[in-house]
Amino acid sequence: MKSDIRVCSAWRDRHERPVYSLSSTCPVCDADTENSAPAPFDPTDAYGEYRRALKRRSR
Ligand SMILES: [Zn+2]
Repeated sequence: MKSDIRVCSAWRDRHERPVYSLSSTCPVCDADTENSAPAPFDPTDAYGEYRRALKRRSR
């Protein structure tokens, strides 16, 4: 399944938080948007879960 939700590609420089949009340009700063679907918003959380699983496996 594909999501149409896109996120401002320059939000780290121009906004304090991700700016989501359904169009190909950011409604706030007019920069290009990119598809936000594949990556979870907070990768550090997934990494923590991965470490947890490793720990559990080694015991
Ligand atoms: Zn923007």
